[in-house]
Amino acid sequence: MSPRSAEAQRRERRVDAAAGGVFAGGMTDPAGLIPDPAAAGSSAPTGATDPKALQQLDEGWSRGLAVVAHPDDMEFGAAAAVARWTAQGKEITYCLVTSGEAGIDGIEPERCGPLREAEQVESCRLVGVRELDFLHLPDGVLEYGVDLRRAITASVRRHRPEIVITNNFRDTWDGATTLNMADHIAVGRATLDAVRDAGNRWVFHDQAEQGLEPWGGVRQVWAAGSPRSRHGVDIGDTFDAGVASLAAHAAYIEGLGWEDFDPEEFLDGMARQIGQRLGVTRAATFEVFTAAFGG
Ligand SMILES: [Zn+2]
Repeated sequence: MSPRSAEAQRRERRVDAAAGGVFAGGMTDPAGLIPDPAAAGSSAPTGATDPKALQQLDEGWSRGLAVVAHPDDMEFGAAAAVARWTAQGKEITYCLVTSGEAGIDGIEPERCGPLREAEQVESCRLVGVRELDFLHLPDGVLEYGVDLRRAITASVRRHRPEIVITNNFRDTWDGATTLNMADHIAVGRATLDAVRDAGNRWVFHDQAEQGLEPWGGVRQVWAAGSPRSRHGVDIGDTFDAGVASLAAHAAYIEGLGWEDFDPEEFLDGMARQIGQRLGVTRAATFEVFTAAFGG
């Protein structure tokens, strides 16, 4: 690897770490997650009149597909929600667009990719997810476009979900200055398009030759951890499974080099802040998009 590409990878890692770091930073509330008494007038921090209060997610579905850029993306906040849903009997599949092979500075991609895939498989097992798609697109340099839409569309057609979950794809994590990462932004935007593409027989028509029939059954796309989230779900009963699923990314966490990083403390601070907005002890947030076909 050239010095230039090594530097590019370090830069990428810093940005991705910063994306995760917002959650750690979230403990001091840069995302404005804690209800602001001034903003809510003199009322209590939670309640119908609180502009930051969250609505409950619809849980009347049976098949979900989580589409994210990297191993670990679901585990920095959303995995406990997945554990709740699989415990309810829902079937959830993960689609990993990359294998996160550029995510650990000290391990070359050829060795890192398989290592991170293995960590993700274990992480999934801990939250009741048995099936994973690895699309093997290049980590760190994903581009929004037709190729990415095609790959995600194939996964949607293969698994025929009613709900598709993805990661926050807004420019920032806090709605202000903490930058998100290019891969997350590309995957989230392509996922919104792919749920529509999947339902159109004449878009990526060649996939029919692989037995992938059109699927127009996606009702909503949920972006985990978005600063524009208006919905939440109680993760109190499955919080521990979520912690275990993050801890399963041991090589990645070690590679981040965060001093004394504790997955439980990290997730707990975020979940409790969000919980206040939902009126429970611990919760996770999602920005909800409703699929509208035609046009
Ligand atoms: Zn990521």
